[in-house]
Amino acid sequence: MTSSDGSSGTPGPSGVPSASGTPGTAYGRPLLNRRLAEFGTTIFAEMSALAVRTGAINLGQGFPDTDGPEEVREAAVRALRDGRGNQYPPGPGVPELRTAVAGHQRRHYGLSYDPDREVLITAGATEAIAAALLALVEPGDEVIALEPYYDSYAAAIALAGGTRVPVTLRPGEGRFVLDLDELRAAVTPRTRLLLLNTPHNPTGTVLTREELTAIAELAVERNLLVVTDEVYEHLVFTDDATPAHLPLASFPGMRERTVTIGSAGKTFSFTGWKVGWVTSTPDLVTAVRSAKQYLTFVASGPFQYAVAEALALPDAYFTDLREDLRAKRDLLAAGLTAAGFDVYRPAGTYFITTDIRSLGESRSHGGDGFAFCRALPERAGVVAVPNAVFYDHRQEGAPFVRFAFCKRTEVLTDAVERLKSL
Ligand SMILES: *Cc1c(COP(=O)(O)O)cnc(C)c1O
Repeated sequence: MTSSDGSSGTPGPSGVPSASGTPGTAYGRPLLNRRLAEFGTTIFAEMSALAVRTGAINLGQGFPDTDGPEEVREAAVRALRDGRGNQYPPGPGVPELRTAVAGHQRRHYGLSYDPDREVLITAGATEAIAAALLALVEPGDEVIALEPYYDSYAAAIALAGGTRVPVTLRPGEGRFVLDLDELRAAVTPRTRLLLLNTPHNPTGTVLTREELTAIAELAVERNLLVVTDEVYEHLVFTDDATPAHLPLASFPGMRERTVTIGSAGKTFSFTGWKVGWVTSTPDLVTAVRSAKQYLTFVASGPFQYAVAEALALPDAYFTDLREDLRAKRDLLAAGLTAAGFDVYRPAGTYFITTDIRSLGESRSHGGDGFAFCRALPERAGVVAVPNAVFYDHRQEGAPFVRFAFCKRTEVLTDAVERLKSL
């Protein structure tokens, strides 16, 4: 992956960040070490700055524009006032939250985890992913990740000294599809782990029971570890074709080889709190904790108590969240279709991936999502992100552009109105 502006680590004059946000050369060699040299500023920084500069509606970065439940905010205030979590909480996380995470896995999936030995609280899912890779990957190990991938995966694999092996999800039957033969062919004797993500950001694909069964069989047959990022577990738009979230750890042979990652950010609309968690076996949790303790050690003390209460919210909370976002998905999908985009209707997450070629963009912008997204704020007053940044195979991602719909209805209505001008 190159930096978000397409220039890959252009050295600045004297070690100060260059215009692209990439540190330059000084003190005798490039400042940024070679593991990170290919990663510049994330696309979100560039596009969010563009939104501010142009006054465009920001459907680029995926954060909700309203906060989560009032009672959960109040729980955080209470914890702060009562002096709970204001000093270093325990390394594995506060017992209340570990118990709540275990309770959540049992209540929603029938999976049982020991809160003391099989649950670890992290600084968001991001730290959980980084710690898992740093703990489990030796330099030279191959890590298979679905492409397009969440942007922190590539950097975390690189920090761990691993080699990423992308397996590309491709459009077919109205969704982005995993080619299971390609996945099988990607496994080599050097493969250490599969890094999965379902529901999948940015495509909105939810892996089916059949796909997950095949992945589980492959992992067992080839004795692979699996790290599975399930932060959108409660954002599955269930219908006849899509059952509720199916955690990979619930498939035969998987519990003992799977590190499952969740987060309060997406489920409770508190992305700034950075409370995430890992559930796995005692050995795997201990391994991940070994890396985690030297990253943040601990984080988000008072928020951990609040999230413990959030996880115990009644089913109605989770249903309402899903139904609210389903309506927003339908609103934005209809608007994008009317504006001329080819829309891949997501079965999960709060993102819609579109194909811009149907807009006749091949002539004006070469079907190039980068150029399209840079021009979109001026053309239509809306910001989106080019999916190409989530690919090693840039060309595969070139025609795709992602819009977030975790925004207030009036904001989405306004965006849809603006996009009509395309
Ligand atoms: C948002 C997101 C994360 C990061 O979660 P945090 O809890 O904010 O660190 C991880 N994975 C995916 C797929 C995401 O979309």
